[in-house]
Amino acid sequence: MKLKVEKEKCIGCGICVSSCPEVYAFDDNGLAYVSTDTVEDDSRGSAVDALENCPTDAILKVE
Ligand code: SF4
Repeated sequence: MKLKVEKEKCIGCGICVSSCPEVYAFDDNGLAYVSTDTVEDDSRGSAVDALENCPTDAILKVE
C-alpha cells in the first residue's frame, strides 16, 4: 500500500503523525507528508486509521 498527503488540504493538525509516526511526519512548514515509500504491513492499521481520521481528507491511497 502506498499513501500520499495532499498538502493543499493538510491543516497540520497532527492526528496522522501522532497515530502513525512510522508513516507520517511533518515537513519544515508544519504540514504532513508520507515518509515511507511503501507502508509496511505492521503499520497498515494505524496508517489507515489516520487516513480515516484526517479531518480534511488530505490522505489518499495511491495504490
Ligand atoms: S491528519 Fe490530515 S490534516 Fe491532520 S496533519 Fe495529517 S494530513 Fe494534515
